[in-house]
Amino acid sequence: MLLETLRRDVLDGALALRKFGLVWMAGGTICARDPESGLVVVTPSGLDYEALSPGDIIVLNLEMNVVDGHYRPSVATNLWTAILRVRPDVHAIVHSHSPYATAFSVLGREIPMITETQADWFGQPVRVARYAHIEDEHFVTAPVQALGDGYGVLLGQHGPITVGENLHQALERAVTLEEAAKSYIAAAALGPVPELTLEQSKRCFDYYQNRYGQR
Ligand SMILES: [Zn+2]
Repeated sequence: MLLETLRRDVLDGALALRKFGLVWMAGGTICARDPESGLVVVTPSGLDYEALSPGDIIVLNLEMNVVDGHYRPSVATNLWTAILRVRPDVHAIVHSHSPYATAFSVLGREIPMITETQADWFGQPVRVARYAHIEDEHFVTAPVQALGDGYGVLLGQHGPITVGENLHQALERAVTLEEAAKSYIAAAALGPVPELTLEQSKRCFDYYQNRYGQR
């Protein structure tokens, strides 16, 4: 099977979304790019991931031509491929409907940096793209622009997207962003919420990404 390992990893990622409570039913998307061939692997549209096997995951190219797979790919594949096209450093994308991050997207509010863990993974606030229906002209351009060189973006009145060099990073960011949004809302119930400065956030990011852990 073409790209069997990556297809299995994408399916495992989709199942992890539910395990971490970030989606329910057929919601959410996992997308990954094979670094060698440049081919893109994405979850199918509207199917229960629990019932899928790796062969049900779709392989396509950046022009969205299906190379292998029998289902229709995620309906937002134009957005996933647009992100991959402008971000050669990104090889994985996670989209979920996690409730606390989505609450910020509903208000059109970026998620500020309030915890070190969040800054370790993002290094800057996670901006929000204005609401767009999937058939709107700015459905692709608005999130791509709001993402910029960051690692997360909120789709207005919809939910978060996180990206990474690999699926593990994109998934960890999805969970971290949801936990940060939850902490923000809990902290806001207690009083005004102090934010990390951009300088503090970037320092955490640089340390965590370049000097932390087993090296
Ligand atoms: Zn969605």
